[in-house]
Amino acid sequence: MIVVMKKNAHQEDVQRVVEYIEQAGLRPHLSDGSTHTIIGVIGAREAIDVLALEALPGVEKAVPVSSGLNLVSRDVKESNTIVTVGDAQIGGTELAVMAGPCAVESKEQLREAALAVKAGGAQFLRGGAYKPRTSPYAFQGLEEQGLKFLAEVSQEVGLQVVTEVVDVESLDLVSNYADMLQIGARNMQNFKLLQAVGKKGKPVLLKRGLSATIEEWLQASEYILREGNFQLVLCERGIRTFEPFTRNTLDLSAVAAAKMLSHLPVIVDPSHATGKWNLVAPMARAAIAAGADGLMVEVHPEPARALCDGNQSLTPKNFNLLMNEVRSFAGLMGRSLS
Ligand code: PEP
Ligand code: MN
Repeated sequence: MIVVMKKNAHQEDVQRVVEYIEQAGLRPHLSDGSTHTIIGVIGAREAIDVLALEALPGVEKAVPVSSGLNLVSRDVKESNTIVTVGDAQIGGTELAVMAGPCAVESKEQLREAALAVKAGGAQFLRGGAYKPRTSPYAFQGLEEQGLKFLAEVSQEVGLQVVTEVVDVESLDLVSNYADMLQIGARNMQNFKLLQAVGKKGKPVLLKRGLSATIEEWLQASEYILREGNFQLVLCERGIRTFEPFTRNTLDLSAVAAAKMLSHLPVIVDPSHATGKWNLVAPMARAAIAAGADGLMVEVHPEPARALCDGNQSLTPKNFNLLMNEVRSFAGLMGRSLS
């Protein structure tokens, strides 16, 4: 933490700040400039975090210098982390693709989607059994029955299951069926849930919150890493802006930034980012160009009949087209697609 004193701060003001820092068990480091006095605060982060330096007279501002990104930062691990889920990997040269319906609706619907995404070259079957819906009247998911369908169909077709866990209470149950646990955008700052999935030790997909800054997203990931779970993948899924034409605004600079700041793999969900099926392919290509390690895409055998997010879901045919496009495009980025 660095404290900048006001231009006209009195000597007593400076002394008061120094004593305040010392009383907190921290070490002040004074530098007298020609206009401003600057005081560095040295010591344990927990003690620095609770200081209210800007409440003291004569203080212009207190600027934190450490973001608390102790484990997620590239400063602590230079090489890319590769997350392994069964026989699939995320973060290596090969792009990872997670595809499937927004929600599991029936075994037949899921099997049809799974066969299509497998044929297209995806390694993961996605599908929500617990759906965090904005309206309580919207379809909430098949819950445990949906998890059973995911496990059965993925086994039959040969895909890894990624599915959302919405609360600590259902974590054990979801973990029994899932290969990878998804933390949805709405739960990115559910810190108890982040700690619990960290303790669980299963691979985790952490989606960026609707209004979360890149730093908040990385801080959220720190909660999981801190529990000893480094099997973590970040997912940019669009943020809320003033633009209503798309459901969200895909923040591709966040993909490049997260790859620069952290060693974790980053994938992109162009389905939730745009809300429109016909924008999924261009944004998928852009995501790969920005350095994403993979994609999450919604695919439904019959989007017009989907119980959730039909407008942004690709038909099996369009998913296949997307994959062929991405496959030829991936080579330009030195990546491959199975
Ligand atoms: C989802 O992937 O099913 C989902 C609900 O996405 P998000 O949390 O990004 O809205
Ligand atoms: Mn959805």
